[in-house]
Amino acid sequence: MTNDTLPQSKRFCNITGNRYNKFTVISFQGLCKRGSRLWLCRCDCGVEKNIRGSSLTTNNIKSCGCILTRLPKDRPLTQSILKEIVHYDPDTGVFTWRIRTVGHIKIGDIAGSIQGKTRICINIAGKAYRAHRLAWLYMYGAMPTLLIDHINGNGLDNRIVNLREATQSQNLMNRGKTIRNTSGFKGVHKHENKWEAQCVYKKIRKRMGGFNTPEEASVAYEQLAKECHGEFYYQSTMNKPEN
Ligand SMILES: [Zn+2]
Repeated sequence: MTNDTLPQSKRFCNITGNRYNKFTVISFQGLCKRGSRLWLCRCDCGVEKNIRGSSLTTNNIKSCGCILTRLPKDRPLTQSILKEIVHYDPDTGVFTWRIRTVGHIKIGDIAGSIQGKTRICINIAGKAYRAHRLAWLYMYGAMPTLLIDHINGNGLDNRIVNLREATQSQNLMNRGKTIRNTSGFKGVHKHENKWEAQCVYKKIRKRMGGFNTPEEASVAYEQLAKECHGEFYYQSTMNKPEN
């Protein structure tokens, strides 16, 4: 169908010539099976495809997907390219897709998957990125130079207020008890039938021993940790008093 034979209905809005993100509308193509209007559009890269009018006007589709081909593996991801691929909500920490990077995802779907129960990874152009690092790039324009620490200790909580740059040693401080822990309390272990609290900071070990119960040693540990770790002090949920 050419533009001379456009439907004459009053509700029909001719968007030929309009620009929507990277697309320019060339001509009306007719209705799709579901009755939506299809428009032939040309992406800035030269690719032409038929797109539903509603997808254009609601910003649901922004390019033919060519943005991904501008991302060779040896080139770093930039803030502007990232923003064309995903949307990041700093208040919820959630990423959603702005374009279909692979066939099975839909625009608006939550991006990323949980890896190792402790972090979210997002695949872009064949490369896996940690979501918290992408959040940093999205908000501040550059990948973090240091590690990103989750302030509340939850690696899945990528709200921007929960992220801060930390050195590796600061990042390790802000961890819960390790898997090897047998006392049930971070920084507490058994020593010669008594319980001992121990805290390591910058290779200096601080310890307090001789407690009868792991609970008492834990109170001592929290005190030691507060002194050692300063703002990176992390009160493990296990040791937290109930409120
Ligand atoms: Zn394109």
